[in-house]
Amino acid sequence: MLLGWMPFPLHSSCLPYRAPVTVDVVVPVPLDRPFTYLVPDALTPDIARGVRVLVPFRQRKLTGVVVAVDADADGSALDFRAKPIADVLDATPALTGEMLRLTRWMANYYVCGWGEVVRAALPSGTEVSTERRLQRTDRPVPERWANHQNAQALLDDLEGRESVTLKGVRQRLGPVPLRLVRELEEEGLITMNTRVSDPSVSVKKETHLRLSEPFRTPGAVRDAKEQLRGAKQQLVMAVMAGLLAEGIDTPRQADVVERAEASYSTIRRLVEMGLLQSVEQQVNRSPLDDLAPPAAPPDHAFHPHQAAALEAIEDAITAERFESFLLHGVTGSGKTEVYIAALKAVRAQGKTGIILVPEIALTPQTVQRFRAHFGDHIAVLHSRMSLGERFDAWRHLRHGRYDIAIGPRSAILAPLDNLGLIVVDEEHEPSYKQFDPAPRYHARDVAVMRAHMNDAVVVLGTATPSAETYTNAEHGKYTLLPMPERVPNAAGVAVTMPSVEVVDLTLERKKHRLEGAISDTLYEAIAARLDRDEQVILLQNRRGYAPVIECENCGWAPGCSDCAVTMTYHKARGHLRCHYCGLAEHLPRACPECGSDELTQIGTGTQRVEEELQERLPQARILRMDLDTTSRKNAHHDILDRFRRGAADVLLGTQMVAKGLDFPRVTLVGVVSADVGLLLPDFRAEERTFQLLTQVAGRAGRAELPGSVLLQTRNPEHPLFQAVTAHDYHDFMAYILNERQLLRYPPFARLAVVEFRGPKAARVEEVARQWTGQLRQRAEKADGPVEVLGPEPPMVGRVKKQFRYHTHVRVPRTTDAPALQPLLRAADEAFGSPPRGYHVAIDVDALGLF
Ligand code: ADP
Ligand code: ZN
Ligand code: ZN
Repeated sequence: MLLGWMPFPLHSSCLPYRAPVTVDVVVPVPLDRPFTYLVPDALTPDIARGVRVLVPFRQRKLTGVVVAVDADADGSALDFRAKPIADVLDATPALTGEMLRLTRWMANYYVCGWGEVVRAALPSGTEVSTERRLQRTDRPVPERWANHQNAQALLDDLEGRESVTLKGVRQRLGPVPLRLVRELEEEGLITMNTRVSDPSVSVKKETHLRLSEPFRTPGAVRDAKEQLRGAKQQLVMAVMAGLLAEGIDTPRQADVVERAEASYSTIRRLVEMGLLQSVEQQVNRSPLDDLAPPAAPPDHAFHPHQAAALEAIEDAITAERFESFLLHGVTGSGKTEVYIAALKAVRAQGKTGIILVPEIALTPQTVQRFRAHFGDHIAVLHSRMSLGERFDAWRHLRHGRYDIAIGPRSAILAPLDNLGLIVVDEEHEPSYKQFDPAPRYHARDVAVMRAHMNDAVVVLGTATPSAETYTNAEHGKYTLLPMPERVPNAAGVAVTMPSVEVVDLTLERKKHRLEGAISDTLYEAIAARLDRDEQVILLQNRRGYAPVIECENCGWAPGCSDCAVTMTYHKARGHLRCHYCGLAEHLPRACPECGSDELTQIGTGTQRVEEELQERLPQARILRMDLDTTSRKNAHHDILDRFRRGAADVLLGTQMVAKGLDFPRVTLVGVVSADVGLLLPDFRAEERTFQLLTQVAGRAGRAELPGSVLLQTRNPEHPLFQAVTAHDYHDFMAYILNERQLLRYPPFARLAVVEFRGPKAARVEEVARQWTGQLRQRAEKADGPVEVLGPEPPMVGRVKKQFRYHTHVRVPRTTDAPALQPLLRAADEAFGSPPRGYHVAIDVDALGLF
């Protein structure tokens, strides 16, 4: 268990003299209050705010965190129902006072349980909880159960398995009521055990070896070797002496075994004889171990815009004053260099920093740039880390061994003390918003709050600020730092922005210059780059081959059986795949409705673009980067590496190719269909498309060679394209804000979406209506206008067998408007828990609305 983190409880000296009687504990459930527990005498020395404890909770044991210690010895605060805590799990508090405050704020703002936020702030896999394990007995099934479908399914599932968790059963079979389990248990058909499960991760140890004191000179080793009879034993000693001579004092046992081709028993024998010592060392599992050490950082003088931005940021850092900056710099303006310089300034003060990047931009390229400056002081966090790597990063951050954390949204909860700076790179990225599970937070907004609580500085960097951030800068809430030009090249000339042109697909077709997805204009531009040995990035923001298959005779189209969407055809594997749930099926040879074999493929995904391009330009070397080609570990890295080395001419992919890439030989960026995404029923669709197109355009012409961008579209007159071609962010934002104001959407309103989900459509609708009814009653009595819209099924009304309904709630964004949170909380509490298998998800500041 984790009690072994530190040999002695460090905080016992700061405990009050009177023993604490009770503690308030938050547990990971969606309830907005801590629970009071008694502390048995034996555990009082270990109790402190922020330590994790094991507590009984509704017939289970859960890991919770102490949020308040009540040392009041007269027992007046004592709840007569309070139960004792079962154990204390930490010697040093897992959460600091600062993190307790931040998580409390998040639970309030995002209307979820404090314990749910706390769980998100702790490394996963370290929870101790109870699990119910089921086992089939050998009793035959009585007749009357034979027709009970659920019982039969459960018994079948248990048949032939050793012992399985109820959780696992529910994952396989869907909701299995505990009542049924109990009935079968009473019948003697199954047994159920409840036991405390250990955390799935812990500190990893490794055995190392060391030559014992008398044998640490070459002569002594030689003497010792002569005494040894076994050749293997002699070889091990020789290897140890050789390593010592290389300066490796305490090598890993596994390395010694490998070099000497010896067995573990040989080593054990040498340890028993006192020639070697065996030493247990903690291992730090880090994803950085796989990366080559970075090259030395470039050392360049800042250009005037960079210098001005840094000066303003450093000013706030020096004054230790909370301030939020919007670093609005075009692509290639040198924002990353500004982040690095600001980090150096906070480190010089002995403070720490967090760098948030969208997951997609967490490429080795970015990480290496930070490592070149900060070496081993960085902990990298990302979603593909193992539980062990995550745990190690977390505990080393907590204990101050790292002072910089870089990662996607969850890194905003990194356990760093003494925080001086938070950077949110590409602040407009939707991946900063979490949806499931709760807390449904926006990492950028949490970053601003966390900086505020620490008198720290927050820098939001982007070429295309979100409408919300732009408005905050306009109102002076954030300080605007513009960097409107790209970094000068070696000759000292500012690199020009690429020229952006629109290709009108309707017109191209009329002129017979378009057959498949790529027009002659784009082909000619690609061919010209191939001739000059330059590189091309092509964006098609849709993976697979064709998004829709349709029968030409009767109009049948294959849909997912679990989701209300059509399935995408993946030609490479010859199957249909649902992009919502991953379900795959064979492509039928003929239409199952009418038998016709005329099934057409409608629409274009990356695979189809690749095929078409290869046919037309056989000499082109193409790399495809999308979810399908990057599922293997390091695949993403390998593809980019090959492209950088010039092993390919064209990098074709989904939005993965749009962000953060810096390749000097890329002179053309082509967008195959710039309209993808524009037609989604989401009020942010245009803003998103503008951001994506600006980002991908920014990949062209980043060094000496000038860049150009071709956007293929069927809507060339859309204001969006004028803004992208003219690089006019402000014009576009004026247009967007005007629309948002008319339609009363953020940033002119505060918005929450409540999602209802469950297996039966009618029941979901009923839950949605009742819950929304509770909200409406309260909204009508609220002190100001509150709009409640819905419930309605969203565009995709069913995902993973779950039907969905949405209710939208909004209030104007004025100071006198009522706050949404108390209304949502009150409605949720009045409604109570949804029926088993049904879910209510409250999403404050929701992003996706469909
Ligand atoms: P952004 O993050 O705004 O896209 P980067 O920080 O990646 O821009 O900078 C673009 C390129 O210019 C990088 O290769 C970077 O090393 C280089 N660079 C940044 N600042 C300077 C400078 N002042 N002088 C020379 N090169 C610079
Ligand atoms: Zn048909
Ligand atoms: Zn599906």
